Amino acid sequence: MNAPRPPLLTLDEALPGLLARAVPLSGVQEVDLHDADGRVLAQDLVAPLQVPPHDNSSMDGYALRCADVPRPGVFLKVTQRIPAGSQGRALSPGEAARIFTGAPIPPCADAVVMQEDTEALADDLVRVNVLPSDGQWIRRSGEDITRGRTVLSSGARLGPAELGLAASLGLARLSVMRRPRVALFSTGDELVMPGTTPPEDMPPGAIYNSNRFFLRALLLRLGCEVTDLGIVPDRREATVQALTDAASRHDLILTSGGVSVGEEDHIKPAIESLGELHLWSLAIKPGKPFAFGSVRRSSEDGSAHFMGLPGNPVSSYVTFLLLVRPFLLRLQGVEQIDPIRQPMRADFDVSKPDRRREFLRVRRNAQGGLDLFPNQSSGVLTSLVWGDGLVDHPAGTTIAKGDMVQFISLADGLS
Ligand code: AMP
Ligand code: MG
Repeated sequence: MNAPRPPLLTLDEALPGLLARAVPLSGVQEVDLHDADGRVLAQDLVAPLQVPPHDNSSMDGYALRCADVPRPGVFLKVTQRIPAGSQGRALSPGEAARIFTGAPIPPCADAVVMQEDTEALADDLVRVNVLPSDGQWIRRSGEDITRGRTVLSSGARLGPAELGLAASLGLARLSVMRRPRVALFSTGDELVMPGTTPPEDMPPGAIYNSNRFFLRALLLRLGCEVTDLGIVPDRREATVQALTDAASRHDLILTSGGVSVGEEDHIKPAIESLGELHLWSLAIKPGKPFAFGSVRRSSEDGSAHFMGLPGNPVSSYVTFLLLVRPFLLRLQGVEQIDPIRQPMRADFDVSKPDRRREFLRVRRNAQGGLDLFPNQSSGVLTSLVWGDGLVDHPAGTTIAKGDMVQFISLADGLS
């Protein structure tokens, strides 16, 4: 007898329940700034100094006093040279300082004239060919950051720009959240690992395991430590064994495939015997089946989280972005987990409404609109390679050319 179909659950119903369980991991680590890319900050970064630390020149030229140059064509005596990294002396009336980009403005100077607007008549004599305005070409101390300001808060995700900012404050080591430990495995006897069997020798019915590769890459980009447990055969005992082993050493066990209610799907009974399982049928397309629960640890207290993604590659990818990504960010204490959406013009039609909310694979075009990938089937990975984003398309609605739709960039919105 077929198992009853689980009720359709909307994403908005499913996500809060999932996130409620994403209690941030305990454990903070100190890492070198070089190793902090992609990590989540576990401390507030408070500026111990001004950036820039001193008023400095943003041009190669001459530092002077505006009062000495009431009109273009005035001659000034050049009495000092201030390269970046050195400190000048106060200017007296009628004097200018040769100055270079980044060098501190000497006391009493109130403007810089760029060298293109001057003529050096001798080493110690310059003609200023413009009328300088007060403060021109001077970058003020603290213009970027004032001392005592919190520039980044605990829970911020660190990327290249954040690392540069931390470095500009003199910080060489940062306190970051521990990486989530994730065990990844695929289920399915049809799966073959690329590299083990050449295409011409693939047995009938076999396909290459593609999910394993993009899931691992997505996990690494979210700062996780990944243990790849390979392919687990479609057998009950093998599945139970793999789950038990994984639970002891990981925060999350992530699988793909085997979460439909077909009789070849062994994840469900295996998890039920080891912990708890919620099998959701999500009202999203692609990506209907999704399993969520926990697996008890045999030796220690507690349990590991479990998430089972659908096997179809695009479904797997999209459910990862919509559900696993926010969960893993929350485990690391990240507050900002909602993807950035922007309204954009659809240059395509969707004439048939679907009862599920769709995440359409689209690409931005040169006319400022969006094109739709022609094959939106959940097995077609080329749609994700061709596309640069998803359109969040509400259930039961259609799209006509020219309509505004919600676009989520795969690069910025869901990275
Ligand atoms: P399942 O969710 O196990 O019923 O699988 C649904 C579809 O996805 C089937 O066509 C599977 O062959 C395919 N599939 C499952 N796992 C993978 C994988 N790791 N890589 C590529 N395709 C997969
Ligand atoms: Mg399967």
